[in-house]
Amino acid sequence: MNDAVLVTGGAGYIGSQTCKALAAEGYRPVTVDNMVYGHEWAVRWGELVKGDILDESVLDGLFSVHAPVAVIHFAAYAYVGESVTDPQKYYRNNVGGSLSLLEAMLRHGCRRIVFSSTCATYGEPLVIPIPETHSQHPVNPYGWSKLMIEQMLRDFDSAYGLRHVALRYFNAAGADPDGELGEEHDPETHLVPLAILAAQGKKGPLSIFGRDYPTPDGTAIRDYVHVADLAQAHVAALRFLLSQDQSEAFNLGTGSGHSVQQVVDMVHAVSGCTVPTVEAPRRAGDPPALVAVADKARTVLGWEPSLPLLRDIIKTAWDWHAKIR
Ligand code: UDP
Repeated sequence: MNDAVLVTGGAGYIGSQTCKALAAEGYRPVTVDNMVYGHEWAVRWGELVKGDILDESVLDGLFSVHAPVAVIHFAAYAYVGESVTDPQKYYRNNVGGSLSLLEAMLRHGCRRIVFSSTCATYGEPLVIPIPETHSQHPVNPYGWSKLMIEQMLRDFDSAYGLRHVALRYFNAAGADPDGELGEEHDPETHLVPLAILAAQGKKGPLSIFGRDYPTPDGTAIRDYVHVADLAQAHVAALRFLLSQDQSEAFNLGTGSGHSVQQVVDMVHAVSGCTVPTVEAPRRAGDPPALVAVADKARTVLGWEPSLPLLRDIIKTAWDWHAKIR
């Protein structure tokens, strides 16, 4: 039987794509997801167990039955604005859920975990592009919850030898190039899907959050990375953990920044449809630019984005949205 990998949050956008990549590489993904934001249709590779990582009995059952060689931990709430108005939800689910998971790993002797972290742990960047060595001082409870988990992982490494890879994603975007999976958040807050839905007339005009940033066109710059490339990075991180007795953190981005206006223009270029827009004030906590120094994942993990171009990222997302509704 193939080695099992426990995937928390495997019914979500990045988790489901990673299950597909794991299965393609000969692993047996087992998803645990509380289905608050996950989709049953997205779990197409491996078993789905509906349950919460805060529930010890669910985790004990999973570790006993499947004896996973490692955990890939996506399960988290990820709405920055909501984390500001309802932080207890984020600390309980993200931090409390992760502690429950790590304790179950120790109980069952599973000592390898790949963790979904975020560039939000850096807070307002002091330099662009941002290296992994940049100071970490988040500006919202979501970012703090992820940083606290990184800290727990570092402490569990020192004390118990539980090894981890923390993957700090920049802006995940795009859809499965085979058209089998894609982004479907409710509520949707992300730029790429909102721009596409506006162009397709399925949602109102896109609000451009700020045109007064110190950037060439005045709109904010982000590092968009294809979800299938993120999924591949998790497989590479898993291999790293299985072959090296060592913990590491990596940025996952392409190293190229694109502005909100460039994203809007690219949706038009790939689809021929205009994106209706309205001007809006800056969104609180949004820095002018977030771009990764992306060399470490390339050098150490051998990870190379296969779809680094904004055009390809948006084309796959467009095709997905054209198909689903
Ligand atoms: N953005 C925007 N309008 C929207 C949603 C996002 O102008 O309706 C901008 C946002 O201010 C940021 C960029 O698009 O500069 C990416 O935002 P998103 O929410 O997709 O990801 P985040 O950077 O917050 O993780």
